[in-house]
Amino acid sequence: MLGLLALAVDGFWHGVFTGDSPPIALVALSALALGVAMYRPRGWPSLALAAGVVPLAIGLYGGVVAALLAVVVLLARQSVFWVIQRREGRSEGSEKEAIELVLSLGPLALAVVAASWVGLGPAVETPEIGGLVSRFGRGTVAGGVYLLVFGGLSYAARMPRGARPRMRDLSPLLLDALGWALGLVSTLSLIQLGWFAGLAPAFGLATLSILAARADLSARRERRIADRLREVHLAGHRIIFRQPDLMAIARQIHTECNGVVGFSWFHFELTAPDGSRKSWWAGPDTSVLEGKPEPPSEPPHGHGLRRRVSWKVVERELATAERALGKIKLWCDPRTVDEGAVDWLDAFLPEVTSSIERAFLNREARRDPLTDLGDRRVLESRLEGAFAACLDRGSSMAVIMADLDRFKRINDRHGHAVGDKALIEVARILEKHQREADVCCRYGGEEFALVLEDADGETAMAVAERIREAVENALFVPGGKKVPLRTSAGVASFPELHVKRAGELVELADEALYEAKRQGRNRCLLSLGQGRFREASGDVVGPEEPVAELEPPTLFA
Ligand code: GH3
Ligand code: MG
Ligand code: MG
Repeated sequence: MLGLLALAVDGFWHGVFTGDSPPIALVALSALALGVAMYRPRGWPSLALAAGVVPLAIGLYGGVVAALLAVVVLLARQSVFWVIQRREGRSEGSEKEAIELVLSLGPLALAVVAASWVGLGPAVETPEIGGLVSRFGRGTVAGGVYLLVFGGLSYAARMPRGARPRMRDLSPLLLDALGWALGLVSTLSLIQLGWFAGLAPAFGLATLSILAARADLSARRERRIADRLREVHLAGHRIIFRQPDLMAIARQIHTECNGVVGFSWFHFELTAPDGSRKSWWAGPDTSVLEGKPEPPSEPPHGHGLRRRVSWKVVERELATAERALGKIKLWCDPRTVDEGAVDWLDAFLPEVTSSIERAFLNREARRDPLTDLGDRRVLESRLEGAFAACLDRGSSMAVIMADLDRFKRINDRHGHAVGDKALIEVARILEKHQREADVCCRYGGEEFALVLEDADGETAMAVAERIREAVENALFVPGGKKVPLRTSAGVASFPELHVKRAGELVELADEALYEAKRQGRNRCLLSLGQGRFREASGDVVGPEEPVAELEPPTLFA
């Protein structure tokens, strides 16, 4: 093939001047076939290509012509692959490839000219076999120089610093050397046979190389499909099993969608069974927030031909057989989004749908209808999980138990309805002070619990104190008359307290709450264990002679 190409170019070059032109289609076909044959999936295409074309062209015409030829064939090769990729419905990465291609053309041409300058001198027109042998020798020298200069540089650029070369890393260079040698040998053997003898192998090789490249592309596609299926399966799994509440589901869906389809703006809307709607959004630089997105009218301007484009909006309805659950809307930049990946989104919508359904069921079953917070069961189900995660990560966690002061009096003086409103008011304040990952629920009556992951006693105490102040400062005016609200809170945290179960934290926080009530209410206390507590001011209250601190558990005495 390489020899054929050289012959075609050689004949064509002479034909231009002598009028004895070889078939131009053969030149084009050979060049394309060579380009396709030189296709290498994981990079270095220019190197491989140059290795095939350059030794012959340098031997025949000198460095400048060889450089031009290498550039032309490289462009042809890349075009064929873009056509194949497009037909197979994959365009991802082609812009990046185009930039890399353009950037590699200059160094490629330079390297070729340099190789000819170092190893060859000017081209010599010698039709005899002796001349061919001398071209072979010069081609070998040029090949060596080329591999050393351009190949060595590219190789060094791609190797991680300080890494030891492995055979796998060297294989592109070895393949180039082989291509180079084959190019030279085939030139010598085929030059004896003439044009027509060369035509059949040209077609044969062209077909074979295109088939081989296509087989390689489809093998890569299958690998990608397998990878994606696994990813999508895992994404669905994470959505279903990780997060029981709606906000967390919104966040998980955002993360998983982003893993499948790269998007810029995200909107996730849910319709509750009672018809009410809740909506979350995220932009390119924001995490998931409640509300609606306001994306700009078009994606940020880029460069080149597709400087300005319109959003590609992907919208999917989520529904069960009985009712609509909501929708997901993604704003993607068409210049970067992978068209094929959009289909993958559909693959995990069933998981999204069922996890939302489950979350609604959980919500309905475990919601306190008055305050719309989770009920005691939510606390119980989350507490142990949070404790286990905290042990796994070696992090801290804390529990705050808060109780309204003299609530019975509010009920008695203002009526039960006002009492209910006060509970709702306090629930909203608690929600405001809750971080995204925290669990906040109504533990019973007028008592609330907050579970804070990754928070130590100090942090939790500060949160409790802020809540206490917020309740104290709340303007609660049911029926036009201000009713003062007060709370007390008890805080317990791990690992400051060496508890073995998360339930013990609730008991210790409850004990601190009881002590806060005993000490006059409207205050927060942090449990230090052994009946001792710390106030927000830092003062420690409790038995004068503290019992010895419980030692952290040890496995071996
Ligand atoms: P302390 O400062 O010691 O906590 O005093 P308290 O009056 O708040 O505590 P106590 O436990 O004596 O009274 C709690 C009251 O809360 C009794 C009950 O009637 C009232 N309560 C419990 N659940 C609800 C509710 O859902 N709505 C209303 N309005 N009141 C409730
Ligand atoms: Mg109370
Ligand atoms: Mg109470």
